[in-house]
Amino acid sequence: MEEEAPSRISVAVRCRPLSENERSNMVHSICRVMDRRLVILLDPGASAANDYLRQDKSKEKRFAFDQAFGSDVDTQTLFQATAEPLIKSVLQGYNATVFAYGSTGAGKTFTMIGTPSEPGIMFRSVEEIFRGGDILSCSVSCSFVEVYNENLRDLGSSDIREGMLDLREDPVTGSYVAGITEIQAESVQEVMDLLQHGNGRRTTEPTAMNVTSSRSHAVLQVRVERRQGSGTLMGKLSMIDLAGSERASETKNSGVRLLEGANINRSLLALGNCINALASGSHFVPYRDSKLTRLLKDSLGGNCRTVMVANVSPSHLSYEDTLNTLKYANRAKNIRVRAKQILVTPDEHVSEYEHAISDLRNEVSLL
Ligand code: ADP
Ligand code: MG
Repeated sequence: MEEEAPSRISVAVRCRPLSENERSNMVHSICRVMDRRLVILLDPGASAANDYLRQDKSKEKRFAFDQAFGSDVDTQTLFQATAEPLIKSVLQGYNATVFAYGSTGAGKTFTMIGTPSEPGIMFRSVEEIFRGGDILSCSVSCSFVEVYNENLRDLGSSDIREGMLDLREDPVTGSYVAGITEIQAESVQEVMDLLQHGNGRRTTEPTAMNVTSSRSHAVLQVRVERRQGSGTLMGKLSMIDLAGSERASETKNSGVRLLEGANINRSLLALGNCINALASGSHFVPYRDSKLTRLLKDSLGGNCRTVMVANVSPSHLSYEDTLNTLKYANRAKNIRVRAKQILVTPDEHVSEYEHAISDLRNEVSLL
């Protein structure tokens, strides 16, 4: 079989574990990951009633992705398989993008930002840049910005001004945020501080669905400049912890919240539209439709490599959100495959898959 050409958009799914709280509240997992590629979403009703064997199999949803990670996979493993391969090209002067998509509570912030004991992709990427770049010829600067309600806020500034930042475009270096704090990072610890403090400054508002629901997109941009001969290689890595993808109607929002929802959807919608346009080779890419896509204009498409991590919760209570995320991720994958006229089917995994399914049935019938 011919090797698949390196793709512009690689789609990975990550399913988080059930929390202690969920376990003690009889929440059960309806998401199975197999073969690092397949995701099976069980019928939430049937498995809740312990009658999995009798359930209508047409209610079971199956997807195949470039990569899929179950609840037992740690962030380091995920990082090595998704973002790490992009670092080399950033050091070579290319732009690259990693974003986490998914509903609130699915694990986006855990994946992208993480905690000091389990750092996310943002921190690990900068660490890898420091490791890969020769420190004497390399300069690394980071900015951390929030897109909230189609406004930009500087998460790297300790001064909590409500002042909104301006997005401008430079004909050579591309889009930039005027006046944003740029940290000339000399150590990875500085980056960890920036992420933790910055994340604490993000706008979070209570909604009916989740009191800590993040209504904002957080964008870390790492600029790497490397002297090579008489020139300078300039690469940029953009990493985005997107706002929750759940629909405004589901969070029972109203008034201001609803307006936020509309704007969040606008940025998410615009991101989806840009990815679709790029993947199908369209000449027109609607970058200007939102602040987020304007900010990422020079980091999506062209020679840029993009990785999408679709985060999902395994909870049977999150069935609708999980299904929506898997469908969104699947569309991004399908569009790319169609554009390249390569047909990818999960057939080669069928026997392994059947085996796994029968294991699942046994597991469920033993409950
Ligand atoms: P989101 O940013 O998508 O709203 P979070 O990243 O805040 O979701 O995750 C929700 C909760 O689940 C947090 O308490 C987080 O620590 C936990 N969590 C998410 N993913 C994982 C994981 N892979 N392993 C362990 N805990 C996780
Ligand atoms: Mg979050």
